[in-house]
Amino acid sequence: MKRIVLLGASGSIGLQTVDVIRQHPDLYELKAYSVGKNIEVLRKLLAEYPVDTVCVQNEADAVVLRTDYPSVKVLSGDDGLLELAERDDYDVLVNALVGYAGFAPTMSAIKTKHDVALANKETLVVGGELVKRALRKYGVSLYPIDSEHSAVFQCLQGNKKEQVKRLIITASGGSFRNLKREELKNVTVEQALAHPNWSMGPKITIDSATMMNKGFEVMEAHWLFDMPYEQIDVLMHQESVIHSMVEYIDHSVIAQLGAPDMRLPIQYALSWPERLTLEEEHPLDLAEIGMLHFAKADTERFPLLKAAYDAGRKGGNLPAVMNAANEAANLAFRNHEIGFLDIEDIVIGALRSAVHMPVSTPEDLEAADAWGWGYALERIEELK
Ligand code: MG
Repeated sequence: MKRIVLLGASGSIGLQTVDVIRQHPDLYELKAYSVGKNIEVLRKLLAEYPVDTVCVQNEADAVVLRTDYPSVKVLSGDDGLLELAERDDYDVLVNALVGYAGFAPTMSAIKTKHDVALANKETLVVGGELVKRALRKYGVSLYPIDSEHSAVFQCLQGNKKEQVKRLIITASGGSFRNLKREELKNVTVEQALAHPNWSMGPKITIDSATMMNKGFEVMEAHWLFDMPYEQIDVLMHQESVIHSMVEYIDHSVIAQLGAPDMRLPIQYALSWPERLTLEEEHPLDLAEIGMLHFAKADTERFPLLKAAYDAGRKGGNLPAVMNAANEAANLAFRNHEIGFLDIEDIVIGALRSAVHMPVSTPEDLEAADAWGWGYALERIEELK
């Protein structure tokens, strides 16, 4: 029985994690979980999984819940997330938080000797260096939940990492993959939120449309698989059937294919090295799909992809600055405060204006995050 603490239970990945747990009640036990502001989902979860401790974002919500559920310990805020991550009665933390907020709980879980199944990509984008160091020090493992990284992880099984030539991360291109650059100027939030292949949370769907998400995934891959940036390529593949590939030194390419269903990477992160059954409504049917398409990733069309490679190679505070500026700009776009192309303008502007510095502590990351947010908020104010 694997005991699980789940952060971000009410989001897209969180709910799909609950579904995996539901399908294997003999293997997985939910010990505690957090939600943000979605209290209705929390109430439903408590009816199905009456755990002893939960966490919500706002203390005001916690106060109400404590009255309604006197036998449940209701925590709130960032400290509550850390308390869940530091519990001593579980085996793996599933981190499905969105944004840099996911970094601190990941570190807490590692330091208290827990494995982490990571869907929060910002953790590695921002703090890859610190996370890797902590994993070595505390002797625990990190399992990828992102579909691309799960694919690479699966393609590496049974092979030697020293014999890898390159990782090939596939990219659907997001909601605007068929638009030219000049057509992007006046696109709306609603259009950006309609991803052709995947149903995901709003932040990551916008990041897919700007390809910031793919840039983050390149950085994640760098840290997860100890691979230099020169050996990580992005390949456009609009059907999202091949989730990523690994090319070996003999030019053999191994790919992982599947339906666009995040429950598979979630489940594999929990079950590795075993495979378990998964009930899927529409398992992959290649005869029905008929054709797969591939194209070179165009970094002029998607400048944030190139920016991510550059920031990743330079390292230090720049990935954190980039992530913070993107979080602020992504949110401002969703709030109709700036245009779609302003997002990349702000992120690239932040990278150009930041003073490049090394990071050796979480406080250094805090400072870089605050600087990135500050820069972006100023620019957003001007653009409003
Ligand atoms: Mg992905």
